[in-house]
Amino acid sequence: MLLHRIEEVKSVIKDWKKEGFTVGLVPTMGALHAGHMSLIKKAKETCDKIVVSDFVNPIQFGPSEDFDKYPRTLDADVELCNKDGVDIVFAPSANEMYGEGNKLSNDVLTYVCPPFFYVNTLCGKSRTGHFDGVCTVVLKLFNIVQPDYAFFGQKDAQQVIIIKKMVSDLNVPVQIIQCPIVREESGLALSSRNKYLSEEGKKDALVLSKILNNIKSCYQKGITDVSALKETAYKFLTDKHDMEYLEIVDKNTLEDKSEADNNSIALIACRVDGVRLIDNIYLGE
Ligand code: AMP
Repeated sequence: MLLHRIEEVKSVIKDWKKEGFTVGLVPTMGALHAGHMSLIKKAKETCDKIVVSDFVNPIQFGPSEDFDKYPRTLDADVELCNKDGVDIVFAPSANEMYGEGNKLSNDVLTYVCPPFFYVNTLCGKSRTGHFDGVCTVVLKLFNIVQPDYAFFGQKDAQQVIIIKKMVSDLNVPVQIIQCPIVREESGLALSSRNKYLSEEGKKDALVLSKILNNIKSCYQKGITDVSALKETAYKFLTDKHDMEYLEIVDKNTLEDKSEADNNSIALIACRVDGVRLIDNIYLGE
């Protein structure tokens, strides 16, 4: 069932809770692909009832980012969700989420601001305020849906770490489940933003997963020096690649390391064809 209003969702959830059903939430910005569907599958295996939110959240986009052109495919999303047994697709308007009018600033709106240590690195460095917007919308969704479980992709590894931190710090009664990255056969991590890539760009984008796989295989061959591991990336880069970051940090805390170990994660952000792409890999698995 497709619902646009918060009160409608709350009313259905209330009935489910009375019946003792467990509820799973899969937050998305729509333009659903197999990555999203893997989260939905895991949610179906874990919970009695599934809510997928489908909302391009304006407050997590910076002024020069792609909010206006972000792909919006609600009809197709609903069809996919219906086929996969999703109980509610919640697709609110921005007014429904944040109130009528132009209230999208922290002058007038309460924001959830995750700790500086977690946001002043990786994606948070170039996307000022992004994780405030993410945490704010996710906490609102948690309050509306009151899920027992919420499902997030490792694709956005920093996001999951920050959401787990928020849930722990604010005592939110929800269990966060992280699901593995779904890739094309080529290795390219699925993303709604891949729609922006030309055929040529898609080929150039393979460099992200190649760099990460190569770092992992070097690590497995015994190279642990982080600077040396990062240097292995250069041979893959061409003038088509505008690298934003390549880091190897602790997979649970995001702490920098000089030596990689089995708890390390390598993360990359790179612009290809003007499209900002991210990817990551655990070195120890
Ligand atoms: P988005 O719609 O991009 O905000 O993503 C919604 C959720 O789907 C987030 O938890 C993402 O991490 C997850 N996700 C996006 N791409 C993938 C992927 N390729 N594999 C697994 N999960 C993904």
